[in-house]
Amino acid sequence: MKIAFIGLGNMGAPMARNLAAAGHRVTGHDPAAPMPEGVSPAAALAEAVAGAEVVITMLPNGAILRAVAAEAIPAMSPGAVLCDCSTVDVDSARAVAAEAGAAGLMALDAPVSGGIGGAAAGTLTFMVGGPDEAFARVAPLFDIMGQKAVHCGGAGAGQAAKICNNMILGATMIVTCEAFALADKLGLDRQKMFDVVSTSSGYSWSMNAYCPAPGVGPASPADSGYKPGFAAELMLKDLRLALQAAEGADADTPIGTLAAELYARFVEEEDGRGRDFSAMLPRLAARGRDRSRG
Ligand code: NAD
Repeated sequence: MKIAFIGLGNMGAPMARNLAAAGHRVTGHDPAAPMPEGVSPAAALAEAVAGAEVVITMLPNGAILRAVAAEAIPAMSPGAVLCDCSTVDVDSARAVAAEAGAAGLMALDAPVSGGIGGAAAGTLTFMVGGPDEAFARVAPLFDIMGQKAVHCGGAGAGQAAKICNNMILGATMIVTCEAFALADKLGLDRQKMFDVVSTSSGYSWSMNAYCPAPGVGPASPADSGYKPGFAAELMLKDLRLALQAAEGADADTPIGTLAAELYARFVEEEDGRGRDFSAMLPRLAARGRDRSRG
C-alpha cells in the first residue's frame, strides 16, 4: 500500500518504520524530525499525501491536526483514508472527519495506547472511530503497528474511548499511590500490600501491571527512578481532554476533575514534568495530610 505518514516523533517514527519494514511504500513528512529507516522523505505535506491510499497522522494536539488536515485534504487522492492516530479532543476529530467527508474522503480517529514501547514493538492497541469501510481498509495496517484494533463507532468514538480509559487510569494510579503512602504510614510492608491487593478487589492495571512502588510487582518505571514510561504531562493532557469532553457533554466527572488538578499541580508547580505518571507515589509518600481538604 502507498502510505503517507505525517508526524514522525516518539510515536510516529517507530510506527512508520514498522509499516515500511512490512513492505509498504511509506513517505514521511515532519519538519522537525529525522526520517525513520525505510521511509522516503517529502519536504512538503502536499507532496507526501499525493497518491497515498492511506494518510496517517501522529501529531501533538487537535489544533495542529486541524491545520495539517486543512492542508492535506485538498491534496489527497479521491477515495483515500485519512487516519489520525494522535490523541486529540473529540471535537477536532469530528471536525476533521466532516471536512474529509465533504471532500469525498474517509476519515478515522484511531488513538493508541501502549506508549513508545508498544509503538516500537508493534503491539499498540487502536481505538477507532469512523465508517466501516475505512476501518476495513486500514485494519491490515493496524495489525502491523499493533496487536489489537477495536472499532468503537462513528467519528470521534475512538477519541472518546481513549480519554475515558485514561481518565480511569489517571484516577486509579493516584488512588493506588495514596494507598501505598497510607500503608507506609500504617507500617504495612509494600510487598505485602502488593501481594494482597493484586489478588483482591482493589486490583487494577496500575497495581498489577505497572506497580508504582519500586522493587514490587513486575518491572515498571518505578524500578528505573520513574523515568517514563508514560510521562505525567501526557497524563495531564489526556485528563484535560476528558474534562473538555465532559464539559461539552454535560457529564459530571468529580474524580476525573480531581485527578486533573493533582496532575496539574505535580507537572506545573512541582517536579512532575518529565517523570513517569506513577511518580505520584513518592510525591504523596513525602507529604502529610492536606488539612485544607479537612
Ligand atoms: P512528539 O512530540 O514526539 O511527536 C510529534 C511530532 O509531530 C513531532 O516530531 C513534530 O515535529 C511533528 N509535527 C508537529 N507539527 C507538524 C506538522 N505541521 N507537520 C508534520 N509534523 C508535525 O509526540 P509523540 O510522543 O510522538 O505523541 C504523538 C501523539 O501520540 C500525541 O497526540 C500523544 O498524545 C499521543 N500519544 C503519545 C504516547 C506516548 O507515550 N508518547 C502514548 C499514546 C499516545
